[in-house]
Amino acid sequence: LGPTVVIGEILVEIMALTRGNGFLEPIELVGPYASGAPAIFIDQCARLGGAAGIVASVGDDDFGRLNVERLRADGADVSAISVSPDFPTGSAFVRYREDGSRDFVFNIGKSAAALIGLTDAAKALFERAGHLHVMGTAFAIPGAWEMIEHALGVIKGRGGSVSFDPNLRKELLGQGQTQARFQRLLDLADLLLPSGDELFVAAGVEGEEAAVAALFRRGIGEIALKRGEKGSSFFGGDGTRIDRLAFAVTEVDPTGAGDCFGGAYVACRRLGMAPAEALDYANAAGARNVSVRGPMEGAGTRAELDAFIAATPRLP
Ligand code: ATP
Repeated sequence: LGPTVVIGEILVEIMALTRGNGFLEPIELVGPYASGAPAIFIDQCARLGGAAGIVASVGDDDFGRLNVERLRADGADVSAISVSPDFPTGSAFVRYREDGSRDFVFNIGKSAAALIGLTDAAKALFERAGHLHVMGTAFAIPGAWEMIEHALGVIKGRGGSVSFDPNLRKELLGQGQTQARFQRLLDLADLLLPSGDELFVAAGVEGEEAAVAALFRRGIGEIALKRGEKGSSFFGGDGTRIDRLAFAVTEVDPTGAGDCFGGAYVACRRLGMAPAEALDYANAAGARNVSVRGPMEGAGTRAELDAFIAATPRLP
């Protein structure tokens, strides 16, 4: 029907080589790496051969060019990435602490990333799209909701489908329109990609079985639940459940696992794969991505993921 389209932030990530507390003293940094949850999602989707495009905004600078060239090289449609003459590409500096938590310095709100608008190129991309993927991170971008509403109308109107990765911290749900928008997406999504307790937040009930049942009653068609080192599960509206184990890798950089998982899962399902096979590719994409430094450096082609699956044992 047309490409998978995502709306949201493109960033570069610059990361500290050493663990510690924030950025209070000079430290060695590496990067810039192409980043932004929607960019990671769409890059993995495109690398797997799924038709894919992104609506986003970058600055007229090397950080923007790094991202656009990377996405283009990996096969994504970059025609709806606008270039701001006035604001720099968004950036995130990240340093891990010993306990695995992260300190960030963000430049997003006053960067090109916050300038996403419904341009002619964006409208044209929606008009040829077959699937819209919405990420909770887009809720924080001014103007993004208006575009999501427009895209939902156009893509659903032409018989396309919608997936939703809540990617939301619980406390954000209390802010402004976020709860109403979250509920609207749950009403419209065909596929939900929650992780951790997002399943329960979305369903409004605790307990996996009860939550899944509540979401199906509401009209969700399919759920792919991300479970980190425990792998992932598929739930179908007919009561089917499939569990697939994660792959055993040494985790170097956890950022982007969920986005790579999502990009691979959506691409595989849209390419016609059965849920179990899509879960395997998605688990492989997530695991491969955490095993290398940089938020999307581990995104894989079909051949790379096949080789990874053949060579990597499953976690017990
Ligand atoms: P994110 O940290 O990007 O928000 P998430 O919470 O949305 O991630 P996770 O469940 O952490 O999603 O990761 C998605 C998938 O990636 C998992 O289902 C799993 O298959 C794979 N994965 C993540 N971390 C690991 C790991 N340490 N080892 C093996 N596989 C992993």
